[in-house]
Amino acid sequence: MSISGIAFDDTFMLGTRLLQTGRCTEAIESFRTVYSRALADQDLGLMAACLNEMAWSSYRLGEVEQGLEYAMGAKWHWGKVGNMAEKARALAIEAILFVEIGFSDEAYAAADQGLTLALGTEFESVHAFALNAKGIVLAVCHEAQLGLELIERAMVIAARQQNHAAQAYYLLNIGFCHAKLAEEATALLEPERAVQENRTATELSALAVDLADRVGDDWTLRTALSNSAELLSLQGRHDLAVELMDRLSELPELPGMGLRIHFLYTLSDVLLRCGRKDDARLAAAEALALAEGCGMLDHQINSAAKLVEILEAQGDVRAAFAMHKRYHNLYVRQAGETARRRARVEEIRSETDRLRDEASMLAEQVMCDPLTGIANRRSFDQILNRLAGSPIAIGMLDIDRFKSVNDRHSHIIGDAVLQRVARILVDQIGPLGHAARLGGEEFALIFPDVAEATAAALCEGVRVAIANADWSQIAEGLSVTVSIGLAIGKGDVPSGLLLQMADRRLYMAKTTGRDRIISRDMPILVQDNAEPRKLSHG
Ligand code: GH3
Ligand code: MG
Ligand code: MG
Repeated sequence: MSISGIAFDDTFMLGTRLLQTGRCTEAIESFRTVYSRALADQDLGLMAACLNEMAWSSYRLGEVEQGLEYAMGAKWHWGKVGNMAEKARALAIEAILFVEIGFSDEAYAAADQGLTLALGTEFESVHAFALNAKGIVLAVCHEAQLGLELIERAMVIAARQQNHAAQAYYLLNIGFCHAKLAEEATALLEPERAVQENRTATELSALAVDLADRVGDDWTLRTALSNSAELLSLQGRHDLAVELMDRLSELPELPGMGLRIHFLYTLSDVLLRCGRKDDARLAAAEALALAEGCGMLDHQINSAAKLVEILEAQGDVRAAFAMHKRYHNLYVRQAGETARRRARVEEIRSETDRLRDEASMLAEQVMCDPLTGIANRRSFDQILNRLAGSPIAIGMLDIDRFKSVNDRHSHIIGDAVLQRVARILVDQIGPLGHAARLGGEEFALIFPDVAEATAAALCEGVRVAIANADWSQIAEGLSVTVSIGLAIGKGDVPSGLLLQMADRRLYMAKTTGRDRIISRDMPILVQDNAEPRKLSHG
């Protein structure tokens, strides 16, 4: 079952396939195309679906700030259309992105809110995705055991649903939790437990490699291979580690500088551990140069730290010292970078708020008639669609001899009459129905699930209220009446047919003297200036 309830076109589906295989730059392009179209149509649901996918693609490309902007936008749009499952997914993505830039408080808050929302829905795949996100956040925040338990729950769901791509990704993260537990054990001077956890992490990462390979998810495959190599190298299984790194370098390159840099310093790590110091130095130096070239500070710091270690191992103390100074300077700069990122996230937040206000205004403009402020033709159609198949009554209402109001008074007075009529409609029908201006001096009333007599009485209330209103407030000597055609269906008549019936009866009301309601078809006999018959529904 689709969670979003949206029918996706080919371009969107293409984006999804590209994203699944790790071709994220192209995926974003597809989603952006669909997004522009959705924006033009003011289709909030489709806009949100694109934003979710764009956020996830950005995460995989290592473009974290951009990803956050998309995720926050998606979160708002899903909230607006009331889709809590998809909103939970947007929150989970937001949480993972916050982890990436090192904002653990924000990450925890988003993950927690996402999981609560997700568990309130019936969609198990969303439960799993939100469990996984909170698990990652916990593992990064030194609660690897708690994190592990959550991601294992996610894994059970993915296995039950036979979703192999999700299983590969969750396996990767379970492996990551065990690696974290190994680090924890080492710090607590529990070497045996560390070895055990490390082995488990390696086995799980190997499983993730196989599964990701089988489903063609190159991103998960790369990440799992790189994790496996690092773990094997930690265990002194150098040949295997180098073998995996070779396999990685033979895979087709994926876009995103972050992945390439990560590969290079993982490689330098593996090479250093197996004693190939010169090769390790080359790889780390390339990683540092690339990271510097694209201004990725975290990667520069990691690469510089790795280089210090390698230079020291090579016995090149002077170079090691110089690199350490560089590493230190980068480290100091990172404090400033954190402040900049915080400012940027705040900026994204307020920008999302601004867009949000604009979007609601746009959405209102799209759904409201500008003169009277009540629903327009577009939202009238939407209401009818929503009510398709359930019993409704439709009243078509037209102001009598409105042209002469314009002619005798003025167009401005005419406009004031339209506004007043709209207000009376809303006041009269209250919560029992909807009023819309279809255009000109024509209005429609929709009453969902009311008895025929009730609908007729509500229309009569409208007619009387308009006829008896004090119009002299608007213009001296002004009087206004309306004619209404009413049609009722029990859910078995298509709304298009009901509309035609109501329209035909409105015409009868006009030809039989105006200022009246007609709710049954009847032969047209009476001439235009006949004495008005007040209510005739039967
Ligand atoms: P009938 O009782 O048969 O409905 O007569 P009528 O004069 O109301 O009908 P007709 O269709 O001949 O005229 C409708 C008029 O409504 C013509 C047009 O100038 C006026 N009108 C349509 N839209 C607006 C509007 O937004 N503002 C104003 N002031 N007048 C409008
Ligand atoms: Mg008309
Ligand atoms: Mg009219």
